[in-house]
Amino acid sequence: MAGGYRGRFAPSPTGPLHFGSLIAAVGSFLDARAHGGEWLVRMEDVDRPRAVAGAADGILRTLEALGLEWDGPVMRQSRRDDAYRAALADLEAQGAVYPCACSRKEIADSSIAGPGGLIYPGTCRRGLPPGRGGRAVRLRVEGGVSFDDRLQGEIHQDLEREVGDFVLRRADGLFAYQLAVVVDDGDQRITHVVRGGDLLDSTPRQIYLQRLLGLAVPSYLHLPVAVNERGEKLSKQTLAPAVDAARPVPLLCQVLRFLDMPPPPEVEEGRVEDFWRWAVARWRPGSLPALRTRRAP
Ligand code: GLU
Repeated sequence: MAGGYRGRFAPSPTGPLHFGSLIAAVGSFLDARAHGGEWLVRMEDVDRPRAVAGAADGILRTLEALGLEWDGPVMRQSRRDDAYRAALADLEAQGAVYPCACSRKEIADSSIAGPGGLIYPGTCRRGLPPGRGGRAVRLRVEGGVSFDDRLQGEIHQDLEREVGDFVLRRADGLFAYQLAVVVDDGDQRITHVVRGGDLLDSTPRQIYLQRLLGLAVPSYLHLPVAVNERGEKLSKQTLAPAVDAARPVPLLCQVLRFLDMPPPPEVEEGRVEDFWRWAVARWRPGSLPALRTRRAP
């Protein structure tokens, strides 16, 4: 696509890069470069207590060692509170948000579970209970959202029934991921999001927010999520090991095999520059595995 493709990789620096996040990095990079587009990197450290010291730099050094060169400066969510505050003020002015006094326990006692966690029962929707102060700020959701994922196909979520009014500013004062990611994708003028399928359930919430904030809705492609032998997503919590970037090409070839793009031996044994040239030329999103999960090698 001439003029305008902007993609991104947005890791959370909660630990070193593991195979699961490398899939999102490689997929988003290849899609951007195959479109002649830009590829940005954003550190999603909005959840400050979860960020691990040194992890952001470690991720960037790993990307460099793998030949994943990004465009422009790295955006860091921990420096973006003003932008999130302005977006929340916009939603407040629209009457789209309300303060919520409920504690975690109160919500747990009165809610049912949905795909994105507990469905908030709407206790504070019509005003705070007498004598109680607001802790978090929630978005009032009505109806549902549909979108066409480039790999997973038509997705519909009834936000009101399946998710409920969700938090934009947490009780600890931190802005929520759902708000930060939408404001950042908007400010960075991201046109194409390629990321792990674990975020498929979050996308309708993000599109709902984009519409309210008057932001363009990017196109989405959700790659299969890498899972371990127990079917758990590779993550820090499931003790996924850090990728070893000492031998970049064999590692990158593992990612391509995961994505059903097996490279020939001469690519596997070649230089990293030649690997990327081959992979960008061969990138065919239509031939990717349209799976929600797949076993990691
Ligand atoms: N920071 C999120 C993660 O590492 C990714 C967010 C996104 O790509 O939208 O899971």
